[in-house]
Amino acid sequence: MEKNYRAELTGVFGDPVDGNPTGVMEEAAYRALGLNYRYLTMRVAAGDLAAAFAGAKAVGMAGLNLTMPHKQTIVPLLDGLTDAAERIGAVNTVFRDGSRWIGENTDGKGFVRALKLAGTDPAGARVTILGAGGAARAIGVECALAGAAAITVVNRSEAHGRALAEQIAGRTPASAVWQPWDGLAVIPAGTDILIQATSVGLHPHGEELPDVQLDTITPEMVVCDVVFNPVRPRFLQEAAARGAKTVTGIGMLVQQGALNFELWTGRRAPADVMYDALAREFGAQEDARGDHH
Ligand code: NDP
Repeated sequence: MEKNYRAELTGVFGDPVDGNPTGVMEEAAYRALGLNYRYLTMRVAAGDLAAAFAGAKAVGMAGLNLTMPHKQTIVPLLDGLTDAAERIGAVNTVFRDGSRWIGENTDGKGFVRALKLAGTDPAGARVTILGAGGAARAIGVECALAGAAAITVVNRSEAHGRALAEQIAGRTPASAVWQPWDGLAVIPAGTDILIQATSVGLHPHGEELPDVQLDTITPEMVVCDVVFNPVRPRFLQEAAARGAKTVTGIGMLVQQGALNFELWTGRRAPADVMYDALAREFGAQEDARGDHH
């Protein structure tokens, strides 16, 4: 049989993108399954997206991730969107369906998968989300689609906060409200799942805390953070100190990466391999593993 030297290409377009760690876990997964796939981390400026995407099609790439500033501007270039991407209004993953290029959003699905693997089901839950940016949007919509009963969006900017609450209430079966955030936020009593979805606490500011009245976190709550570097930002440490169960952002990162892998290769992703590759990269503590199994 003739040998096939042609690699299947995947990768990410973004700007800035140099610090994006996704390639580490995707390449580890490709190697683990012996697939001749590559994942390239590519800096594509905002004005170059159409040309770069035309190039991706011309060389027959197998799939792509999109990060800032391309998550919305890619939409008109695509042949279709999944239901979730349509409701979230942003795309982080593009895959091929025959000759069609379809946009999906795996951030929120990855979050819900990681949450369930950590033993918490959002069905019926009262969820409070800090932040209303891209990550909060994907998480809020997917938690609602996974059956969350009510969602409170706590956000500084009224426009962003209201827009997300309206988006969830209008496009999913969950109820949703915006709670203003000036000064120390009080976490609503009765919250089952609290999600820190702002960029506060991101490396190199791992010691920074969002403005939250920490004593309103109770042992009944499951507290999640989207920040994955450091693996245990101070907010999660403070939540754990108040008896809450915590879920780290690395689980979400791994699970959204695993969903991408499955869309591009049609194979089940080796999530353990992907987790270990990232944990090595960030020098993660073993104790963070618990929430990905
Ligand atoms: P965006 O820029 O879209 O949104 C940032 C949000 O954080 C906004 O709602 C903003 O509020 C809020 N915010 C920023 N600073 C503060 C502050 N000091 N106090 C209160 N609120 C603040 O970012 P993304 O949503 O794309 O990313 C957010 C984080 O999620 C990043 O750390 C990113 O690395 C992480 N992430 C993790 C993923 C994972 O797989 N674990 C996947 C995707 C993202 P306002 O609206 O008022 O400006």
